[in-house]
Amino acid sequence: MEAATNIFSSSIYSWYEKHGRKDLPWRKNITPYSVWISEIMLQQTQVKTVIPFYERFMKKFPDLNAISDASEEEILALWTGLGFYRRAKNIFAAKEIVKKNFDNNFPSTFDELVSLPGIGKSTAGAILSIAYKKSFPILDANVKRVISRHDKVDVSEKKSDNKLWQLSDLYTPNKKIFEYTQGIMDVGATVCSIKKPTCIECPVSKTCKTAFEEIKVIRKSKKEKPQREIFFKLAHSNNKFLLFKKNSKSFWESLWVPYEDEGIKNDKIFKKPLKRNQQKFNHALSHLDLMITIEIFEYKKPFKISTNREHQWICRDEIKNYGLPKPIKHIIDNHV
Ligand code: SF4
Repeated sequence: MEAATNIFSSSIYSWYEKHGRKDLPWRKNITPYSVWISEIMLQQTQVKTVIPFYERFMKKFPDLNAISDASEEEILALWTGLGFYRRAKNIFAAKEIVKKNFDNNFPSTFDELVSLPGIGKSTAGAILSIAYKKSFPILDANVKRVISRHDKVDVSEKKSDNKLWQLSDLYTPNKKIFEYTQGIMDVGATVCSIKKPTCIECPVSKTCKTAFEEIKVIRKSKKEKPQREIFFKLAHSNNKFLLFKKNSKSFWESLWVPYEDEGIKNDKIFKKPLKRNQQKFNHALSHLDLMITIEIFEYKKPFKISTNREHQWICRDEIKNYGLPKPIKHIIDNHV
């Protein structure tokens, strides 16, 4: 068994040396911090989407010192359009803990890492193996696919995750851990793809139990997502926009949105605009389909409103400093 696991890992790290995606931005100037940010961004998001967000983020906050005094607002602003905003809130919470409990030094043990918000077993494994070059397994979606196919593990079975972690642990080598970890991620992303694995190019095809077999992609029956209608009122005047911070514990928490009309009749806040128009569109969240109506009101000058909701008139060129949901940013950029 030991020889077989050695063959698996050495095939992967040797493949990485020749074919790995070494030009990805997070594969340059590697630090525990840079691996952390990239791994969090790559959760639930594709590489090509992440690249510009990662580059922008690292330009503003290249290391722990740079991010140490950042506000949640600044981090959310850089996350605008990337979605799953809980990840940005976790980065803020985690860097605060690192500052308070670790003297602003990035933790280097498994237990310390998984104690931070947003860092699970696989992300901790990636940070330890890539940045600290310590032998720890990972099991992200790409690695899961490679190992489950290689060892014919039925991922629909309840306990398959335990089995896959055991195998990932077994295959993780003591040497060349950096090359191995990035290599198995890359094999999953570029060779052992979801629909059409190119087994002929795969470094572990000789030992793979499903090599060259036809892949049947079992689509999970899509659950109908609940739908929700939401109504916004967007006031603007001379390139300033009246936006409100969403403080409720639901989607888009802590982001800035137009006034959310919760069905209060005779709402006096928005009266006598110079112009008004309306936009209607749908927007899919992971758990909810939103049907959004935005009424857009233009005013001669910004006005004061009396409300206990946190709000501001924000200049168009200052909007980049605030976290906004993608569809709201799109409306402001393209329809006002
Ligand atoms: S041989 Fe094919 S199925 Fe097996 S791990 Fe490689 S690409 Fe995936």
